[in-house]
Amino acid sequence: MNLVLFGPPGAGKGTQGSVLAEKRGLTKISTGDILRDAVRAGTTLGIEARKFMDAGELVPDSVILGLVREVIEDAGNTGFIMDGFPRTIAQAEGVDKMLHDMRKSIDAVIVLEVPNEALVQRLSGRRSCPNCGAVYNVYYDKPKQEEKCDRCNSELVQRADDKRDTVVRRLDVYKEQTSPIIDYYQKHGADVHFINGDRDIEDVQSDILKIVDR
Ligand SMILES: [Zn+2]
Repeated sequence: MNLVLFGPPGAGKGTQGSVLAEKRGLTKISTGDILRDAVRAGTTLGIEARKFMDAGELVPDSVILGLVREVIEDAGNTGFIMDGFPRTIAQAEGVDKMLHDMRKSIDAVIVLEVPNEALVQRLSGRRSCPNCGAVYNVYYDKPKQEEKCDRCNSELVQRADDKRDTVVRRLDVYKEQTSPIIDYYQKHGADVHFINGDRDIEDVQSDILKIVDR
């Protein structure tokens, strides 16, 4: 089973992908992770990627796709989950061509959907303790004292990424980037499933498993 998993920031895509990978023995492909690993390991493509990163440039699709291909080859016959990748139509086409060469294909595309307002609450409500790492949410998992850690009484902080305006912008970017790719998969006859991600982690996972285990 080879999957592509999409979901907006805050939808729990990372968690769902990891749980699924573990449960079904799938290889999780997150381009950020494989890029970091290749650079650290100093592989040929890792060295190539590093040149662009050091120059402050985007790593070209040819290098990214090469890295993805290596991971899929290493995974052998176990399936994979592409996590938030491809990000552009050009990458989606590149992936299709690459998989065709490898006599593989995408079996399903899973899109986690969560209403924007819920995502804004999940992300912009997040506060963490810089001292002990405890995490809170001011909307539904409040600390007992406002902006203070229950465990160690330190002042809680909000990540710059989680500020309301930034969250709204991140969600817009996701939508602009992802909608055309989902359209692309639908037009090319892929098996696209939309799952309500605004529920407990277990319920969402159970719906994903129904698709994977058909
Ligand atoms: Zn604390």
